[in-house]
Amino acid sequence: MFWQKLHWNPHSENKEDASDIQEQSTSMKEKVLVIAWTGVMWTTAWVLINELSKSIWESIKIIILESQDGPAKECSNAFNNAWTGHESNCELNFTPGDKHNVNIEKALHIHAQYNISKQFWSYLSEKNIVKNIKDIIHKVKHVSVVQENDIEFLKKRYETMKNHHFFDKMIFSKKLKEISKWIPLITKEWGENNPIAATIVPSGTDVNYWQLTEEMAEYLENQKNVEVHYNTYVDKIEKKGEEWSIKTKNKDKVKKTYRADNVLSAAWWGAIQLLKKSGIPQAKNFASFPIGWGFLMTEAENISDIHNIKAYSKAEKWNPPMSVPHLDIRYVNGKTYILFGPFALFNLKMSKNGSFMEYLKTLRLHDTTKLLKSSTHNVDLIKYLAKETYKARSKEDLIKELEKFAPWLGSKEGFDWKFIRAGQRVQIIEDGELNFGTKMVYSDDGRYASLLWASPWASVSPDITKEWVEKTYPELTKAPAFKEIFPEPDKDILRNDPERYYEVKEKVNKALGI
Ligand SMILES: Cc1cc2nc3c(=O)[nH]c(=O)nc-3n(C[C@H](O)[C@H](O)[C@H](O)COP(=O)(O)OP(=O)(O)OC[C@H]3O[C@@H](n4cnc5c(N)ncnc54)[C@H](O)[C@@H]3O)c2cc1C
Repeated sequence: MFWQKLHWNPHSENKEDASDIQEQSTSMKEKVLVIAWTGVMWTTAWVLINELSKSIWESIKIIILESQDGPAKECSNAFNNAWTGHESNCELNFTPGDKHNVNIEKALHIHAQYNISKQFWSYLSEKNIVKNIKDIIHKVKHVSVVQENDIEFLKKRYETMKNHHFFDKMIFSKKLKEISKWIPLITKEWGENNPIAATIVPSGTDVNYWQLTEEMAEYLENQKNVEVHYNTYVDKIEKKGEEWSIKTKNKDKVKKTYRADNVLSAAWWGAIQLLKKSGIPQAKNFASFPIGWGFLMTEAENISDIHNIKAYSKAEKWNPPMSVPHLDIRYVNGKTYILFGPFALFNLKMSKNGSFMEYLKTLRLHDTTKLLKSSTHNVDLIKYLAKETYKARSKEDLIKELEKFAPWLGSKEGFDWKFIRAGQRVQIIEDGELNFGTKMVYSDDGRYASLLWASPWASVSPDITKEWVEKTYPELTKAPAFKEIFPEPDKDILRNDPERYYEVKEKVNKALGI
């Protein structure tokens, strides 16, 4: 996905779109355009730009280019991600450490970011931009549960986090009886002699990013200043003179070129594709490695009475951080599901329904050494993927994995587990090393910015786009709407001022009905 602030340039090179350019060059001269595409990240971005710019820029035209025939068809789609509102309540991979010392820095940062997300979503609900917020965000308890060797680590994590106002409602227990009240589906048939520990935070969330994205897209489609072009693929972004040229092709093979002053390219997977084609020297430092993911899923009516829970454990030693097993309730279109996973799949495709060729086209000769270096440094990850690929072929093997986590659940009649393929994660390799964090890559002139793989992403999309707006269009932060959308935009204040944090949290939680 990407954004541009475009000043319309009538001197496009593409002959095939000449009539269109002629028409737009007269009607849109001097107007500012923003182009984006339609997962949760970029619908968030263009709703934000649209709301902020009204009172600051004279006029704005937003053009949306999307290769698929509608919004939210890729990673933001219904079962393509896990819908956790990542608030650091339960994700043990956000708090590295051992029984002596646990680093909660990342957890604090993500929690503050998620608070910014909730501010944005409550604004959307109050302004009726999103009409069904109660179907989108559900209050769900977040649990971390571990066995044996990890019990002391969990205890230390609890002791460290509990002291901060972000996590002061967290409860810790090593008592099977107590934990069984929290997560009976997991502890049933758990041996008395099998040590267990868990923490619970009552105020976590499940977020339907799919519906959220669709509702934001619908709102924008109905705005007079927004043009949406589905079935339109962005083929290349490259520098032409002082500007950036964006080449597109639609499903009828009609080509069209746009010109941009600034580009933010941040497709979940498309960013690396476009970066490699952009010709900027920094692109050479990056290669990518797509990983497929899947879940076991079952529809489970009335389960919310006993498992209104997202329960996360710890990734097995040597497994990558995103592989932490979790058993989640999910609310989708009035139905209730339980998902267990994720299971990694060795699947070299950039998008779920893409092809291997699509990935191959992102590779350059100089990437070979990076990929080789990365694979020798990450033998365990390669082994893990190979192992997981094999498992994904047999449902029985997957059920055995589930039973290690929740001994009783796999075999219980009435739970009809199906394997479903989720979205692809495109893992970024920077200078031959796997990079699991967010990476913003800028061209030398600072006008092409590419946001590469980040974790988490959907949960913190309002904060990521807010920060990009702050850097690129600081004038928009002076708009009266900015304070309305983000009553407390400063993450340091949320982090250091408990009173302000509670004040904001209570207000937004009330608006969100959680
Ligand atoms: C298994 C899994 C579990 C996850 N769990 C969570 C979770 O629990 N919580 C969380 O916060 N996040 C989670 N994520 C991450 C989250 O799903 C994604 O970060 C988020 O949905 C990505 O949104 P997006 O808008 O960046 O991309 P997408 O939703 O993938 O949208 C990208 C859009 O860009 C379009 N596009 C791409 N390239 C082009 C091009 N060249 N031209 C035109 N259109 C193009 C695509 O068609 C697509 O519509 C998970 C991801 C996976 C894979």
